Amino acid sequence: MSQTPSSSAIGTVYIVGSGPGDIDLLTLRAARLIGQADAVVYDHLIAEGVLDLARADAEKIYVGKKSSNHTVPQADLNRLLVQLARAGKSVVRLKGGDPFVFGRGGEEIEALVQSRIPFEVVPGVTAAAGCAAYAGIPLTHRDHAQAVAFATGHLKDGTINLDWPALARPRLTIVFYMGVGGIGEICRQLIAHGLPEGHPAAVVQNGTTRRQRVLTADLATLAEKVEAAQITSPALIIVGTVVRLQPTLAWFQPQP
Ligand code: SAH
Repeated sequence: MSQTPSSSAIGTVYIVGSGPGDIDLLTLRAARLIGQADAVVYDHLIAEGVLDLARADAEKIYVGKKSSNHTVPQADLNRLLVQLARAGKSVVRLKGGDPFVFGRGGEEIEALVQSRIPFEVVPGVTAAAGCAAYAGIPLTHRDHAQAVAFATGHLKDGTINLDWPALARPRLTIVFYMGVGGIGEICRQLIAHGLPEGHPAAVVQNGTTRRQRVLTADLATLAEKVEAAQITSPALIIVGTVVRLQPTLAWFQPQP
């Protein structure tokens, strides 16, 4: 304890989810904390306009990553949060979606705990919930799916290390985050593990924003269609018969 300043001089780090893209999906708690923060440390995928809620004199620090090209290594980022808090600042660590869904929120908090920095976590609307709502694809439905799985579709050395037999199940909706690059492999694995080629699947790009695009197909054709439509990250893949409801339930008409 001798080297750390007294606790009254230490600022709190708020790990805040900013939702999937539409700024209206920010929680009131997130908006209030952003408005009060001395420093806002933010990612690549945060909702447009969110930074405008910060004080004009707040420090705004970009630490975003694009795909595998990491702008700021996680260890440096952890150190930065600790330094800001030790300087007595109230810090908002702003993340896309929800901090605890593929957001590395857990890793950053471990570093704060080690350094005895007080922290709080503010949930956000995760991309799966946001994209499902704005695309008109319910994630569960009594006639279609009694369970939903969130999986990472991130490719490592050309493969995706997932429990495919557990995912290729009937009456399950699967949502793949970070999966556009590996979409061919994802569809192949699901078919190889027992789902029919005609099993419905969709991709939602830039969900909840003015640039939202939704594409529906089946496991046999999705990868081809996504390539033809030049769909790139950020995009979610939703697999399951709930996708059949999309034409009826779609309501959001993005105005470019
Ligand atoms: N913590 C975030 C996810 C971070 S991982 C959350 O809870 O939403 C980043 C991945 O999220 C992207 O590769 C993409 O698959 C998905 N994603 C984030 N925002 C998105 C959006 N507006 N539309 C579609 N996918 C999105």
